[in-house]
Amino acid sequence: MRPLIVQKYGGSSLATSDKIKNVAYRLMKEKEKDVDLVVVLSAMGKTTDTLISLAQEISPRPCKRELDMLLSTGEQVSVSLLSMAIKELGGQAISLNAMQANILTDSFHSESQILDIDTQRIKTHLQEGKIVIITGYQGLNKEKDITTLGRGGSDLSAVALAVALKAQCCKILTDVSGVYTADPRIVSDARCLKKITYEEMLELASMGAKVLHARSVELAQRYDLEVYVKSSFDEQNAGTLIEKDVKKMEEITITGVALNKNEAKVTLVGVPDRPGMAAEVFTCLAEANINIDIIIQNVSVEGFTDISFTVKEEDLHVTILVSKEAVRDLEAKEVIFKKNVSKLTLVGVGMRRHSGIAAKMFRCLADKNINIEMISTSEIKISCVIDQDKGDLAVQALHKAFELEKS
Ligand code: ASP
Ligand code: MG
Repeated sequence: MRPLIVQKYGGSSLATSDKIKNVAYRLMKEKEKDVDLVVVLSAMGKTTDTLISLAQEISPRPCKRELDMLLSTGEQVSVSLLSMAIKELGGQAISLNAMQANILTDSFHSESQILDIDTQRIKTHLQEGKIVIITGYQGLNKEKDITTLGRGGSDLSAVALAVALKAQCCKILTDVSGVYTADPRIVSDARCLKKITYEEMLELASMGAKVLHARSVELAQRYDLEVYVKSSFDEQNAGTLIEKDVKKMEEITITGVALNKNEAKVTLVGVPDRPGMAAEVFTCLAEANINIDIIIQNVSVEGFTDISFTVKEEDLHVTILVSKEAVRDLEAKEVIFKKNVSKLTLVGVGMRRHSGIAAKMFRCLADKNINIEMISTSEIKISCVIDQDKGDLAVQALHKAFELEKS
């Protein structure tokens, strides 16, 4: 049996017809190595954004079923064009949308989950020697309505297909060379990592280093699937391998530092310190679909406490409205907030076995006169909320202090 590889190309690698031809050429070369290839595509360039804007010209809050119907067209354009390009080069290929590839999801339009993939048809085409090109980001619910998996969801499609097809590995081809120790636009000597564990990648994926969709990393971890992130423009570069190989990695304490900009901090002041208060506040916020990140509750003084949390800045307006209502209902004192904060996160599985990392991080920030507003930790990460203006400086300082430029 030929080895099977799933490759995923992002929108920037498919932005023009020339880029699509280039991908076709690369796939032909790859196919010469006698492998089976399943290729998952995003929509060309910024197509999905454009389609969303178009929908909003018609309706400020378009019906989600119809929006999914619309957005799914972007990926159909890219898969059909790539298939044509391969045929033009004399190769064999076939494009499939989610219906044809039998990707079954639940019915949560715009954020649906993959339930099952019936791989029969894909396997038949592979046996025929074809490169099978499949639309990312979309699925089909049991009513046969088109669903989408959430923005950036093609990564998830690729990993799910690789798992279902028992592929040797999944390669995510993108416009960066791999996963870096820090954003190379902020740190000039940031290093492209050869390897990173699933856990670390998950922290980084949800921390603003938006290389991979977080759910795709979770899925790969669950099935122990090797995932490579590499450049679609630079053949030579091996990219970053995401896997579980902890043993070799334990030597390394810190893997990377990430910065999440555009956050806001909200504090409910003078909340009565009784059972059920936090439940009340966060239930209201959850019902308003607000995603909460770091939460801190102070020690209570004379029966009152303060609760602070962070949200995305775009959610701040609704958060304040909901919080003000909660404050009224709970007879708390007031809501205060601060815009323009960033979350700075240091990640590394080696933290488990080393002490003094937090102290070193806080000292480094203090030396740069950077104030820490909130702290949150897990076994493998430390996050600090700081002033947005100091974000880049903080990343540079930590990168240097922990010598992340050295391998
Ligand atoms: N085209 C979709 C998006 O822009 C899916 C993806 O690119 O992964 O979000
Ligand atoms: Mg993407």
